[in-house]
Amino acid sequence: MNLDVYRTLTKEQPRIPKEITIENEEFHNTATLEEKEQYALALIFSAIRKVVEEHGKEARIVVSCSFGIDSIVTLHLVRRAARDLGVTFDVVWNNTLNEYPQTRKYAKEMTELWGLNTIEARPETTLKKIYEENGVDSLFKRKGDRSGEEGKKEPVVEKCCGSLKHRPMKKAIKDHGWHLMFNGVRAGESRQRWMSARRDADLFYSSHTWKTWVCRPILWWTSMTDSFNYGNSRQEDVWEYVRKYDIPYNPLYDLNAVIDDRFTGAETVVKREEAERLSAEGFNVFMPRTGCQACPIPIKRGYLRYLRQVFPKTYRSMLFQLGFARVLIAEMDEKVRDELFEEMSGFGVITEKTEEAILDRLEDIIELKPCVFDGVGVVKKRRA
Ligand code: SF4
Repeated sequence: MNLDVYRTLTKEQPRIPKEITIENEEFHNTATLEEKEQYALALIFSAIRKVVEEHGKEARIVVSCSFGIDSIVTLHLVRRAARDLGVTFDVVWNNTLNEYPQTRKYAKEMTELWGLNTIEARPETTLKKIYEENGVDSLFKRKGDRSGEEGKKEPVVEKCCGSLKHRPMKKAIKDHGWHLMFNGVRAGESRQRWMSARRDADLFYSSHTWKTWVCRPILWWTSMTDSFNYGNSRQEDVWEYVRKYDIPYNPLYDLNAVIDDRFTGAETVVKREEAERLSAEGFNVFMPRTGCQACPIPIKRGYLRYLRQVFPKTYRSMLFQLGFARVLIAEMDEKVRDELFEEMSGFGVITEKTEEAILDRLEDIIELKPCVFDGVGVVKKRRA
C-alpha cells in the first residue's frame, strides 16, 4: 500500500480522501496478518514522522491503553516502530476507578515488564457519586438516547462516560501536551466504530475532541468475536498476533462464563478458546471486555448473570449500593414479575404484590432465587 497520502495531511486538511480509506479497508479485507502488520508499522512510522517534522525533538507521543487486547497489540506495534525510529512515548491509562482487579494488576505488571512510562488519567468523581447525584434512570437507555429533545434528560451512562472517561483523558492530553495519540480502536467492534473508521480513517487530526493527531494502527484488523462484519474475511488477527509474539494478555480474557441453561458441562467459567468454541456451537457465553466492571451497558448481553457467577461482590454492589435493583424490578417482564410474586408469596417472603415489597425483601429473595435478575433486559441470542 502507498501511504504517501498521509504526508499531505495538515491540521487544516485533517482527513485523507474517502476513496483511499475505502481502498485501505478493501486491502485489509483480504490481506494476511503479515501484510496487515507491515501496513500498521508503516502507518505508525508515517504518524511519528509527521509529528517529528512538526515539533522536532519536542514531539510528544502517547499510546492510549486500556490494557485490553486491542490496546496491548497496538502498544506492541508502537514499541517496535518507536525502537526503530529511536523515539520515546508515554502510555496513558484511563483508570476509571471502576476497573477489574485483573486489569489493575496486569497494568502494573506490563508497565514493569515493558518499562513503560504509564500515566493514569483518573476521574475527579466516582461511579457511586454519579449514581447518588443522578439516580438511576433506565438501565437500558443507551448512549446516544441523549437529551436534545426538550425536557428529556441525558442518560446517566452519558454523564458517567463523560465524567469517568472523556474528561480525565482530555485533561491528561492538555496537561501532557501530547501531539500524537495511538489507540486500539477497530472497525469491527460495532457499526458506530465502522462508521467512524470510514469517516476519520486510521490517521487524522482530531480538531474537535482531542486536539491531537490520532492514529489507529489496527483499525481494520478483525477478531472472530467481532459484533459487526462490514464484509471482511473475519480472521483472527488480534489473537493470532498475540500468539505470534507470545504477548502476555489480561487474565480477564480467561474468565468467560457460559450463561445458558442448555449447557450441561461441569465448568461454567471457561478459558477464552473454550468460550469461543462454545459460542460457535450456539451457546450463550459471556466474554468480558476490559474497562468498567460495574456498568449497565453490557446488561443486554447477560452481564448480570455473568457478574453473579464470576464477580459476586460487584453484582451485589450494583444492586444495593448503586441502586440498580429498583430499576431492574421495574424493568422486569410483567409475567416474570407476577410469577415472582406468586413464588415469593408461597414462601411467605412477601405479602403485598408491589415492587416496593420485592425491594424490601430482596436479600431473602436473592437467597431463595439467585437468578432473579438474570434475564432482565437481555436480548436473547438466536440458536446457531
Ligand atoms: S463504560 Fe459504563 S461505567 Fe464506565 S464510564 Fe461508561 S457508562 Fe460509566
